[in-house]
Amino acid sequence: MKEAIQNLLQLQTIDRKLDTLERAKGDLPQKVQQVKSELEKARETLQNNESSLTELQKELRRVELEISTLNTKKKKSEEQLYAVQTNKEYDAVTLEIEQAIEKIDAMENSEIELLDKEKDASEQVKLAKEALAKMEDDFQKTSVKLAKTIEANADKEKSLTEERKSIANKIKVDYLRIYERIRKPKAGLPLVTIERGACGGCYTNIPPQRVMEVRESDRLILCEHCGRILYWQDEEELTIK
Ligand SMILES: [Zn+2]
Repeated sequence: MKEAIQNLLQLQTIDRKLDTLERAKGDLPQKVQQVKSELEKARETLQNNESSLTELQKELRRVELEISTLNTKKKKSEEQLYAVQTNKEYDAVTLEIEQAIEKIDAMENSEIELLDKEKDASEQVKLAKEALAKMEDDFQKTSVKLAKTIEANADKEKSLTEERKSIANKIKVDYLRIYERIRKPKAGLPLVTIERGACGGCYTNIPPQRVMEVRESDRLILCEHCGRILYWQDEEELTIK
């Protein structure tokens, strides 16, 4: 067999092994990526929920403080009521008390609303924390699984990659380019034998003249139909294999 073809065949064998290793990883890398981005979103949601809760609590404290200030003011006015001398003074203090009561009412209503909102917000924080914990667990499991698979294949992959490099070094750049171009769309089988006068990849008949060329010529000959690199395998070589 021609040396160039022999080298390309070796490359093909290695590439198929590398493909198998890649498939063993499956969709784990994408899954890890996906879980990771969900994890980031969950963290963001939790942060947003926590800051809304903090805002509500601040607002609640402000309202409570105001209620207490108003109550103090009201109490003072009520005490003043005993000391008033004139009707005019009495009316003024009474008005102050009424205004304070109105404001306290309004503030107490806001307080109730805020307490409701705070309860909801706390619930949201709790849910977001639970969701995040579950996602962190998922992420942990998925990445551990991937890490194990990668680790198991790492050595194999490394030696195959090294082997591939040393073989690729022996192959003409032009040939390598052709090989790489066919490799992807042809599902990792850029080289095929001629079987009973037909391309072993697409089964299109190959004219005898061309078959001769594949056998004799030193250049690479591609199937005119599917574009794969054709090679000839002698009977003896077949039986050795
Ligand atoms: Zn073909």
